[in-house]
Amino acid sequence: MSAGSLLEARRHELEHCAYCPKLCRFNCPVSEATGREGLTPWGKMSVAFLAEQGTRPPDPALGVAAFGCTGCGRCQSFCRDHNDVAGSLVAARGVALQAGVAPEGVSALLRRFRRDGSPVGEIVPALESLDGELSTPSNVEAFFPGCVGLVREPYDVRVTQAVGRALGNPLPFAPGVELCCGYPLYAAGDREGFIAQAKRVATRLAGLGRIVVGDPGCAHTLKQLYPEVGVPLRAEVVPLAVRLAEGLATAPARPPLPERVTYHDPCHLARSLGCTEEPRAILRRAVRELREPAHSGAETVCAGAGGAMAWSMPSESALMARARAAELAEAGPLVVTACPTAKRSLARGGAKVRDLAAVLADWLGISA
Ligand code: SF4
Ligand code: SF4
Repeated sequence: MSAGSLLEARRHELEHCAYCPKLCRFNCPVSEATGREGLTPWGKMSVAFLAEQGTRPPDPALGVAAFGCTGCGRCQSFCRDHNDVAGSLVAARGVALQAGVAPEGVSALLRRFRRDGSPVGEIVPALESLDGELSTPSNVEAFFPGCVGLVREPYDVRVTQAVGRALGNPLPFAPGVELCCGYPLYAAGDREGFIAQAKRVATRLAGLGRIVVGDPGCAHTLKQLYPEVGVPLRAEVVPLAVRLAEGLATAPARPPLPERVTYHDPCHLARSLGCTEEPRAILRRAVRELREPAHSGAETVCAGAGGAMAWSMPSESALMARARAAELAEAGPLVVTACPTAKRSLARGGAKVRDLAAVLADWLGISA
């Protein structure tokens, strides 16, 4: 399917927003953080609608509208008709990319992916330095941390495997762990590249029965986006937070850490995958006090780096990170989250933030 026909297939969604009295307008983190009317869901969808109608040729305004979205899904959850804004704007990205009107950072992201096989650098050297356990052919369950964790947050990945071992249920790396799931290509509007990467990853994961996925963005991709582009996985896809919470059943009785923490729900984990209770179950055992920010659970607010925004619109991404970090700080000084991308974005926004598995490891007295 061409980029133009993919956008045409979204006509109903685009039109629906274009003629809507903007009922979700105060729920988009991009327009809220930037104060730009053009970046409300209505504003972005209206520009994409005009492009779909052929009323105006693709121009840089389409690039900004299509890429000014983190894919957080917040507008959809506040929309009476549950309109799929994020998916429609991804379709518009294909048109913007093809017409050469995508923001400059998108080309940089695609160049980086072609060079290193991921948006964060080469994965194989990072894996070698981690020296983690590898899956054997008999493993029915294996761990797919995601490239951001492997390359940028290796301690959190190492400590996750240490927790698995300590609780008697190891988490060996999945075959194919050296590949990025391809979400950055999807978010950049490169649908063909994404489908090719999905096929590569699916071939490597084919023998598994259960894949435990560290990065919620990767879990969303494997579980929901792969089938959407015709590459379904046979294996069950389980977010790491769910697997860690299962491990609580065999965890020893220990006093909680003397910490007061605020939990940040990653968007894909809470909204796309419906996982809100499991991280809290872990934290209620592991720390003295669990606090909630003003927006949490399915109403969580994006940390700013989703949907390739850190590449396509870095200033706006930074504004969102600062806004979310400030909101979290009102609830307490230490934030815990279950997504390496959110962790890094919130840290850039000024938050003191830790990974859920690392906190669990501290409580269990494990170091890695
Ligand atoms: S997502 Fe729903 S509420 Fe928001 S502008 Fe579109 S149709 Fe209106
Ligand atoms: S998906 Fe999130 S970032 Fe995108 S338009 Fe909706 S609320 Fe805004």
